[in-house]
Amino acid sequence: MRTINRIYINGEFVKPYGTEVQELINPSTREIIGRVTLGNEEDAKRAIAAAKKAFKTFSRTSVEERSQMLQRLHDAVMTKLEVMMEANINEYGAPKPAAIGRVKLAATNFLDTKEALEEFNFFKYIGKAKVVAEPIGVIGIITPWNATYSQITAKLASAIAAGCPVVIKPSELSAIQAHLITECFHEADIPAGVINVVHGLGQTVGFELTRNPDIAMITFTGSTRTGKEIRRGAVDSMKRVTLELGGKSPNIILDDADFSTAIPTAVRQCYNNNGQACVAGTRLLVPKQRLEEVKQVAKETVERIKVGNPWEEGTELGPIVTEKQYNQVQRYIQSGIDEGAELVIGGVGHPEGLEQGYFVKPTVFAQVTEDMTIAKEEIFGPVLSILTYETEEEAIEMANNTEYGLGAYVSSSDIKKANEVAAQIAAGVVLINGAGFEMKAPFGGFKQSGIGREYGLHGLEECLETKTITGYD
Ligand code: NAD
Repeated sequence: MRTINRIYINGEFVKPYGTEVQELINPSTREIIGRVTLGNEEDAKRAIAAAKKAFKTFSRTSVEERSQMLQRLHDAVMTKLEVMMEANINEYGAPKPAAIGRVKLAATNFLDTKEALEEFNFFKYIGKAKVVAEPIGVIGIITPWNATYSQITAKLASAIAAGCPVVIKPSELSAIQAHLITECFHEADIPAGVINVVHGLGQTVGFELTRNPDIAMITFTGSTRTGKEIRRGAVDSMKRVTLELGGKSPNIILDDADFSTAIPTAVRQCYNNNGQACVAGTRLLVPKQRLEEVKQVAKETVERIKVGNPWEEGTELGPIVTEKQYNQVQRYIQSGIDEGAELVIGGVGHPEGLEQGYFVKPTVFAQVTEDMTIAKEEIFGPVLSILTYETEEEAIEMANNTEYGLGAYVSSSDIKKANEVAAQIAAGVVLINGAGFEMKAPFGGFKQSGIGREYGLHGLEECLETKTITGYD
C-alpha cells in the first residue's frame, strides 16, 4: 500500500493544503493499492509562485548546464527502472515488457531532447536583425493516465531544454507513478522551483494552472473535450497551448499488401497499450473483396493474444484502467452490436476467468459503416472496426472522414504508392508497413487531435518566444 501525501514544491516534498484523499485501485485485481492526498488551488498557486521565482535564474542558464540536467534526469529515471515498472503494472495494468518499454522511453525522452538542445540555434541573423529564441516562461503540464511516464517526461524535457520551470499536474489516477518519477526529478539535482508537481483534480489544480496569469503556456495531453476546456480557460491570459488530444486513426490496407503480416500488425496497432492509446489504429480499411480473408486473419490473431495478469509471461493485453473506463468500453461494444455491425470476435463482458479485474474481451467488428458510433468516436479500449472500400480514392476519403487527425497507418507492397497515400492523409503521424514511431521527430495532431507538436526539436521550439532585435551593433 502506497500513501502519497506529499506534493513537490520548490525542491521539497511538502504536505498539500488540500485534504481530499483518493483511493488508487489495481485494475487487474480491483484491490486498493494506495491513497493520494490531492492538492487544491492554493497548492497550485504556491507551486506557480515557486516556478515564477525560479524562472529568473533558470531562464539564464547556459545550454551546457541544461544539457547536463537532461542527462541527470535520464540517469535518475534509469536508476528507478524496476520500481517504476512495477508501479506501471500495478497501477495501470501494463504487461511487463510494455511497462519496461515505458520507463525506458521516459528516460530516452531526456536524451533525445538533450541532442535537440545541443543542435538548436538560439540566435540567428535575418537581414539587419538579430533574432533570439527565449524561454516563454512558466509552463503548466497536464497529463492523463495512459502513459504517465513518457507524457510527463516528453513535456518536461522540452521545458527544461528551453529554460522554462514547470508545474506538473499528473492524472489523479496515476499518482503512484507520478510520485515515483517526481522522486527521480528530486534526485537529479535540478535547481529548486524548476520542477513542481501537484497532485489534484482537473477542476481544481488543472483549472488554476489554465487560468493563472503567471503561467505562460499549458501543454496538455488527454481528451478532446478537456482540451477544448483548457483552450477556452487559457484565452483571457493569452497563454500558448499545445494540445495532444484524441484520435480515431485509420489503418489502410491496400490490395497489394501482404495480408498475412499486415492484418496481425493492424490488430496490435489497435490494441497497443491495452487499447488505450491516442494513436491506436481503430479503423481498419480493407478492400471489399478481401473482407472474408481479413476477418479470418484478424480472428486468428485475436485468438492468439493472451489477455490477463500483466505480470504473467506472454500477456499482451492487460485491463482497462478504471471501472468507469471499463463501462464506457462496454457501452461502445454494445452500441456496435445494436447498430448492426458484425461481431467477428469478442463482445461485451469479461473474458472467461478474468472477472476480478477490468478486463475487456479483445473485440473485432466487421461490416462497420462510417455512420456507426464505433467508427466515429474514440473508444479507448481494444475494439477494432473493419470497414471496406472499393477504390483507393475511397479509402483515402474514408481515412480522412473523421474529426480527428492524429495517427494513420498504410500497408502496401509498393512503397511508392504507400507514400502517395500517406501524403493524402490528414494526420500528424503516418506509419507505413508496420514501422514504429521516431520519438525524435514531431508528434501531434491535425484537426481536433490537437495543436502544436511535441518531442525533440519541435517540442523545444514550442516552449520558446522569438525576439527580433535591430540596431544591436
Ligand atoms: P481528461 O482529458 O479528462 O483528463 C486528462 C487530464 O486533464 C487529467 O490530468 C485531468 O485531471 C485533467 N483535467 C480534466 N479536466 C480538466 C480541466 N477542466 N482543466 C484542466 N485540467 C483538466 O481524460 P480522462 O478523464 O482521464 O479520460 C477521459 C477520456 O479521454 C478517455 O475516455 C479517453 O477517451 C480520452 N483520453 C485520451 C487520451 C489521449 O492520449 N488522447 C489520454 C487519456 C484519455
